[in-house]
Amino acid sequence: MLAEQMTWMEYRDKVKHSVVILPMGSLEQHGPHLPLGVDAVIPTGFAKKVAEKIDGMVLPALTYGYKSQPTSGGGPLFPGTTSLDGETLIHLILDILRDTYRHGGRKFLLLNGHYENVAFATEAVELFLREARDIKAVIVNWWDQVPEALIPEIFAGAGFPGWDTEHAAITETSVMLFFAPELVRKDKIIDDQAKRIPKYSMFPPSKDIVPESGVLYKATYGTREKGEKLVNSVTDAIVEIVKKEL
Ligand code: ZN
Ligand code: MN
Repeated sequence: MLAEQMTWMEYRDKVKHSVVILPMGSLEQHGPHLPLGVDAVIPTGFAKKVAEKIDGMVLPALTYGYKSQPTSGGGPLFPGTTSLDGETLIHLILDILRDTYRHGGRKFLLLNGHYENVAFATEAVELFLREARDIKAVIVNWWDQVPEALIPEIFAGAGFPGWDTEHAAITETSVMLFFAPELVRKDKIIDDQAKRIPKYSMFPPSKDIVPESGVLYKATYGTREKGEKLVNSVTDAIVEIVKKEL
C-alpha cells in the first residue's frame, strides 16, 4: 500500500482504482518528550490503517508544513522547527496531485496532522480542481474526527483546552504512545501551559504566550490506552468519510 515500496508496475495497476492518501505533517518542536516529526508520523499511521480497510494507496508524507504558530505549535523560535512559506506548500501539494493525476489517480484523501496546513492544502485542491474536473478530494484533520463522546474520557481530570492548544499534549502523546512508543521519551513527559493565550496574533510573538518547554497543555494525561481508543475511533471515522465521499 506504500507507494515508495511499490514497483512502477504495481503502482500503475493500483493508482487508478485506489483512494490515494497523502499524509501531511511538519517538522516542528513537540516538547521535551516527542520528536520533531510527530505531525507526519501520526497521519502516516492513520493512512496505513485506513488504506488497509479500503484498499488505498499511501504516498510518502509531507514532512515539512506551513509555519508553526506560537499558540498552536510553539512558533518558530524552537531549534528544529523548520517551516515552509505558504506558496511553497501550496505548490508542493499541487505538484504531487498533478503528477498522481497524470498516472491515473482520481480520488484523493489529504490526511492532515499539522494544524497550520489547512488553508494551504485547501488552496492546492482548489487550484487542482480548475484543471482536473473529474477528481474527488477530501481534506481531513485527524483530530476533528475524534468522536465527541470520547472527549470527556480522554480529557478527564485535565479539561479540554481546544484543539489548537492541544499541542504536544494529551492526544498527540497518547497517539504516539500507540503508533511509535519507541519515539516517546517517557521520563520527560510534563504538563505545561502558556501564561496567557491571546485571541489574536502579534508579530513577532511575545514570549509569554509560549511555554518554554514547548508543551502547550498537560502531556502527563496521555496514555497508550487512550492512544489505542483514539486511533481505533478516528480510523473508523475516516474510513466512513472515504466510503461516503470518495
Ligand atoms: Zn503536532
Ligand atoms: Mn503541528
